Amino acid sequence: MNSQHWHIPATEGLSFKLMKGQTVRITDVEGEQVADFVAFNAHDAKERLDPGVTLDTVRSKNLKPGDIIYSTRYRPLFTILSDVVGRHDLLLPACRPEMYEVLYNKKDHVSCFHNLNQALAQFGIPAAAQHIPFNLFMNTIVDSDGAVRVERPLSRAGDYIELRAEMDLIVAVSACPCAESACNGYNCTPIAVDIL
Ligand SMILES: [Zn+2]
Repeated sequence: MNSQHWHIPATEGLSFKLMKGQTVRITDVEGEQVADFVAFNAHDAKERLDPGVTLDTVRSKNLKPGDIIYSTRYRPLFTILSDVVGRHDLLLPACRPEMYEVLYNKKDHVSCFHNLNQALAQFGIPAAAQHIPFNLFMNTIVDSDGAVRVERPLSRAGDYIELRAEMDLIVAVSACPCAESACNGYNCTPIAVDIL
């Protein structure tokens, strides 16, 4: 099986097909960069990666190698094979233009929501009303009193996570374009994707 490699420039998105049994590696090229990651059943786009179902099933927000990422229909989509960082987010939605308006008073900001919809359209997947991705490298902290905050990613240059597909999938990845917060260390940088 041929390996494939993509370099996602800072603030941009990518989509690709991943067949059952293939492994994808997502790399934070320069460090402290979040990659919003979504996936759909390649044969029925109504079934998709579901962070809520994954939390419900794995019963932890701190996933580790061997854990399964689940679909809306409680079926395995991915198995985590390796993870250099060990800190990702299953709680927050993709950034979208309205978020930049409400939180930062900026209009028409590039967003993961737009990047993901645009990338998925290449495979005929209709624009979603909302994306709640598996936010790779995103360092969301939930305090014991319930307070939620996003801190700088723990990922350093070259850190990665590897996921094995458990069904045929259409995957999209967005190199998050938010430079306004600690989410990406106040600086947007590229993401690399390899099918191994
Ligand atoms: Zn984003």
